Formats: sequence, structure tokens, C-alpha cells
Amino acid sequence: MKELISVSFGEIALKGLNRRYFEDQLIKNIRRAIKDLNIERIYKEQGKVYIEAPKPNFPKIISRLKKVFGLVNISPCIRVDKTMEAIEEASIKAITSKDDGIRTFKVQTNRADKNFPIKSPEVSRIMGGIVLNKFSDLKVDVHNPDMYLYIDIKQNAYVYTEKIRGYGGLPIGTNGKALLLLSGGIDSPVAGFMMAKRGVEISAVHYHSYPFTSERSEEKVKELAGILSRYTGKIKMYSVNILEIQKQINLKCKENEMTILSRRFMMRLAEKIAEKEGLNGLITGESLGQVASQTIEGIGVTNASVKLPVFRPLIGFDKVDIVHIAKDIETYETSILPFEDCCTVFLPKHPVTKPKLEDILKSEELLDVEYLVDEALENMKVTVIE
Ligand code: ATP
Ligand code: MG
Repeated sequence: MKELISVSFGEIALKGLNRRYFEDQLIKNIRRAIKDLNIERIYKEQGKVYIEAPKPNFPKIISRLKKVFGLVNISPCIRVDKTMEAIEEASIKAITSKDDGIRTFKVQTNRADKNFPIKSPEVSRIMGGIVLNKFSDLKVDVHNPDMYLYIDIKQNAYVYTEKIRGYGGLPIGTNGKALLLLSGGIDSPVAGFMMAKRGVEISAVHYHSYPFTSERSEEKVKELAGILSRYTGKIKMYSVNILEIQKQINLKCKENEMTILSRRFMMRLAEKIAEKEGLNGLITGESLGQVASQTIEGIGVTNASVKLPVFRPLIGFDKVDIVHIAKDIETYETSILPFEDCCTVFLPKHPVTKPKLEDILKSEELLDVEYLVDEALENMKVTVIE
């Protein structure tokens, strides 16, 4: 009898020919997430991955696994030989260790090994009878039980009572790489999370206006990247000072075009970094209509500054829904810390809400765009966040 942890994955099981590749990447990601927790063995058995480690480490391992994309369920379980006696012993042990207020149960058996002589419903019936005998305060409820007793019969038999939800999604590394425009706000960390959940490896770029913005606001963004990296693994973060760009726009262009013009610079800078680093796209936290620069016209004009695909996973989300995710992934408390953002430095009182591309292009003729971009990138700093 061995206590271990099992994980199941949803969507990747459907990916046909790619399945092997997805599974291998997932196991790699699992290994990386828990490598410092005395892992003894990780193996696959018929559609699930099993992890052997010292039992005191289970809570830590489970909490890390919950952040690995591609996992649907995580279960502490007991592995035994494929005999009814051994399954009985494991079932009693599994139920005994669950003390809290359970009155009803249901046994659910899955017999993947069709050579096992007893069929699933029969295994469930027999084990149900044994449990009823052993635990006089428990009753069977097949519709809405307080607890399931799961029995998987494969190469070995596995018995467990818990299914802890993971985030689902796809393993990071199976869907390319993208550069997240990471501000200190609520939205962009959530946007990065959403894309990472679809298997995208994330790098980040942050724009600041030091010394107009403080070092502490820079730290805040690093902290956000740190929280994100619990899900994504290490994040390469680029910090770019755009103060000179903002000063030039402020000096030469219309006040109400400040926001849209600096947005276009942010996109251009990001695209240059992405191209140099071989990344496949950009990610922003934009949500349609949320602020003056995120009108459909504003986004259109912003978008026209680059060729790379720009992913906006929050485009159709209401703020309350974004906040809900931000709280769940634990970026919210950091995001609402009151530090100035580079965009607030030269904030126009009445930003254009329906910019026209031809007007904006005309305004940009007053600036040495290429020079400003190159100069900003020359002084870029790179940090690796873990
Ligand atoms: P957020 O909550 O992510 O800051 P927001 O609602 O404040 O978003 P904006 O300030 O209009 O929206 O920014 C839109 C998007 O542009 C952000 O989600 C982010 O991807 C990018 N962005 C804005 N400011 C910065 C910055 N200083 N550094 C990097 N990216 C930025
Ligand atoms: Mg912002």
C-alpha cells in the first residue's frame, strides 16, 4: 500500500496526435513546479500522472500543482495490488482518514483493465456493502452523496475520496511565446494569466517614467510578475523608460492625443523586443470601453502601429469579472497598491475617444519616432523573475 498523488488532465487528452507531446510537456511542467519537494518518482499510468513523495509534503505539492495549467483534478490516493482484499483495506483507510461530518457516500468504480474479473458496478456494490458494515454512521446516497469513494482499476488499483480542481487549460510551452505589456494595474496581470492558461509562455515588458515614477512602483510591477510566475515559471521582464518619448509628445503634439500616441509607442517598443526575442505575439489587458483609450476606434489606431498579432483576452470582460479573477490568482492586492503609473504622469484631461488614424499619423510626423524608439530600447533593463 502506497500513498501518493494523482493528477488528471482534461483537454489535452483530446488532442489526437499531439497528445504525447502535450503530456510530455505537462510532466516537464509538473516536475519543474515541485522539484524542491523531495519527489521520489513521477510516472504515467493509463491517462493519469502519479507522483510519489513523502506524505508530509503532500499539502505543498498539491498547492503547487493547482497552479500548473493543463491539470484538471488532483487527488491524494492510495495505490494497492489489484485484489478485492487490498482494495477493501485501502477503502477503509481512505474513509477513516476523512473525519469531518460525512453522513452519506457513493462508490464509483472505473475498470480500465478489462481483464479484472469483477465488473465496475459489482465492485462498487461489494465495496459499498463493506463500508456500510464497517462504518455504522454512513449511508449510501447515489444522487447527492457527501463523499465519493473512487476506485480506479488499471495496472494497479487506486482508491481516493477527493478531487481537487486545477485550472485546466493547456500546458505552458505548447502554444508559443508572447510578450505581456505589464502595467501596475489590475487588468494586465489577469491578461497574462489567461494567455498562459492556454499554453503560452510569457515574457513581460513594463514602461516607466523614472524619475517621474518611483522605484517603488517599479518594485510593485516586479512583485506582480513574481505572483504570475507561480503559474508560468520564470518570466523575463524588460523595463523601458519612456519619459523622453512622453516629453516629446507633450512638447510637440496635441494634449488630448497624449494617451493614444504613447500607447502606439508602447506597442512599437514591445514589437521590437518581441521580434528580437523570437516571440509570437503581444498581450495587453485592454477591455472594450473600459477607459477612454479603449474605445473600438482607440484600439484600432493603437493596433495599427504593429504587425504582430495582439492578444486581448479581456476584451469582452466586465471589470467585476476581471477583479474576481485577479483576487483568485492573488494579484489583486498588489495591483491596488497606490503607486503612480507612467500613464498618469502626462495624463490629458480630455483624451480623444474616437481618434482617426490619419490625424494620429500626422501628429507622429512631428516626432522622430524611430530615434525615440531606438533610444528607449538602448537603455532597457532585463530582469529574470522567479
Ligand atoms: P491595467 O489595469 O492593466 O493597467 P488599464 O485598465 O489601466 O489596464 P490602460 O492603462 O489603458 O488600462 O492600459 C491598457 C493596457 O496597456 C494595459 O492592460 C497594459 O497591457 C498596457 N499598459 C498600460 N500601461 C503600461 C505600462 N506602464 N507598462 C506596460 N504596459 C502598459
Ligand atoms: Mg493602467
